[in-house]
Amino acid sequence: MPARTGAEYLQRLKERKPEIWLGGERIRDVTSHPALSRGARSIAHLYDMQHDPALRDEMTYISPTSGERVGLSFITPRSLEDLQRRSRMMLHWARYSGGMLGRSPDYLNVSIMASAAAADFYAQNDPRFADNVRNYYTYIRENDLCLTHTLVNPQANRALTASGHPSAEIAARIVKETDKGIIIRGARILATLGPLSDELAVFPSTVLRAAADTAPFAFAFAIPCDTPGLKFICRESFDYERSHFDHPLGSRFEEMDAVVIFNDVLVPWERVFLKADPFLCNAAYAITNAVVHMMHQVVVKNVAKAEFLLGVACLVVDSIGATEFPHVHEKIAECIVNLELMKACLRAGEADATLDRWGVMCPHRPPLDVARNVFPKMYPRMVEILQLLSSSSLMAAPPQSAFDSPIGEDIEQYFVVAKLDARERVKLFRLAWDIACSAFGGRQTLYERFFFGDPVRLASALYGIYDKEPLMDRVRQFLAREEED
Ligand SMILES: Cc1cc2nc3c(=O)[nH]c(=O)nc-3n(C[C@H](O)[C@H](O)[C@H](O)COP(=O)(O)OP(=O)(O)OC[C@H]3O[C@@H](n4cnc5c(N)ncnc54)[C@H](O)[C@@H]3O)c2cc1C
Repeated sequence: MPARTGAEYLQRLKERKPEIWLGGERIRDVTSHPALSRGARSIAHLYDMQHDPALRDEMTYISPTSGERVGLSFITPRSLEDLQRRSRMMLHWARYSGGMLGRSPDYLNVSIMASAAAADFYAQNDPRFADNVRNYYTYIRENDLCLTHTLVNPQANRALTASGHPSAEIAARIVKETDKGIIIRGARILATLGPLSDELAVFPSTVLRAAADTAPFAFAFAIPCDTPGLKFICRESFDYERSHFDHPLGSRFEEMDAVVIFNDVLVPWERVFLKADPFLCNAAYAITNAVVHMMHQVVVKNVAKAEFLLGVACLVVDSIGATEFPHVHEKIAECIVNLELMKACLRAGEADATLDRWGVMCPHRPPLDVARNVFPKMYPRMVEILQLLSSSSLMAAPPQSAFDSPIGEDIEQYFVVAKLDARERVKLFRLAWDIACSAFGGRQTLYERFFFGDPVRLASALYGIYDKEPLMDRVRQFLAREEED
């Protein structure tokens, strides 16, 4: 099957009936439910972009197995050109939402691609698992499926997890093996896009102590979201059924986060990629380089998001005539620096890419690691800058209905600003509000802080893998030279 259209994506969501709960309600059709349908339509738009005649060649490539045009984020990059093509494709998707759809399907497509290319890694656990991961990659590429994933055990007791032991009664674990597969019971956080996805990838978080009692918690697999026993428990939706004017982001880009419950879920053997090997589980993301390919997608998203916030900030100060103040320049310049740093990290990651041991052109990791460590600080700061530059205009932004009410004339008269009439001004500042003040905006900030892991431990990981020895040697040589002088 070639790259899907939006209609095909929505049709499949409609036909499948995963168990999705929002509050006390079971959602039977996400494509028509007001809490999720507009988010689904935005993802559908991404799929439609693959068929836009102006974009088709940049969004798709020829499948090596079927000869059909399939989504370019599935490509196994063998050259720098492949990597840059993938990057351009991902930027098209990221720019559509100003980076607000963090979980566009490319995020996991690149991860499964890397896992499949490194299938021999999975064979160390069981030779069948290598074929499983290869077949799975081909399956999702040829059917253009949309994935969510869940990696982290719930926050039941972090004192336990700090010592590498998940909470035994809560964390998802293998409770049984049968001739059909493994049975999983327990919970995992926090599958973003879960209710809008076709498949759930359950991959290892990287913090298990390699000991016999952690083996049941060590696994990787992927299953359809409508697998019996699987439940998605959603947070409150931030699509409040308001107009695009009122909630320009929440009304479009609700990608939803859900806790996943496994109620004795059968994972068939052909979908198991790793089992009962904490050592391999801990190493999987790094050794397969899946994490580097995911970082590549994330930095592209960061570029689009930094562009978007900078654009909004510039329009804000322009609209109220605040472009001449030096402290405004300083704040806008900070956003420019953030954007250019993200672009530089992306470019450096691509320019220094090399073929890895799996024959995949892999971006150079350090610049991407820098980006993923620094963006969780940059993004909240850019949101703060938007608040500082916008000030009361974030509140002097009545809903659209006010314009067509008895107070409409007052608003038209008193809400004008230097460069915009009242309606244009309110529209712009409602966008700034949806980034900097609304529940949708608050979730975006939390997302940027945490979605790729706890920033404290991301920094520890960078400390751990960064090659510090040559630098220490250079200083040692300097110290020795000083003694000679
Ligand atoms: C909006 C959003 C979307 C997300 N989407 C997904 C998704 O799609 N898939 C997915 O798998 N995950 C997702 N996550 C989860 C994300 O991976 C986790 O939030 C992140 O790994 C941190 O884990 P935690 O939330 O359990 O916090 P914790 O790890 O419990 O951290 C909470 C606090 O305790 C401290 N702490 C806890 N343990 C330690 C320790 N051992 N050492 C030092 N400090 C410690 C932390 O520094 C932090 O300050 C998402 C998170 C958010 C907020």
